[in-house]
Amino acid sequence: MTDAPARRERPPRPCPICKKMSLPQYHPFCSRRCADVDLSRWFSEVYAAPAEEKETDDEAPPPAPRDEPDA
Ligand SMILES: [Zn+2]
Repeated sequence: MTDAPARRERPPRPCPICKKMSLPQYHPFCSRRCADVDLSRWFSEVYAAPAEEKETDDEAPPPAPRDEPDA
């Protein structure tokens, strides 16, 4: 009885971003791009930036009610 599945080599970890084979130089990602994607995801989580608030300056005043001539 053979109990050791020697046929299996350590499977390389797939890229967590796109699930492709990861490359040693980009470990654990498959490419620089995926590494960047992960990094930016991480950053956005860390900073958890709230929804962009629209800064209203005096540049765009609200539309004033139009004075209609009372005829
Ligand atoms: Zn990838």
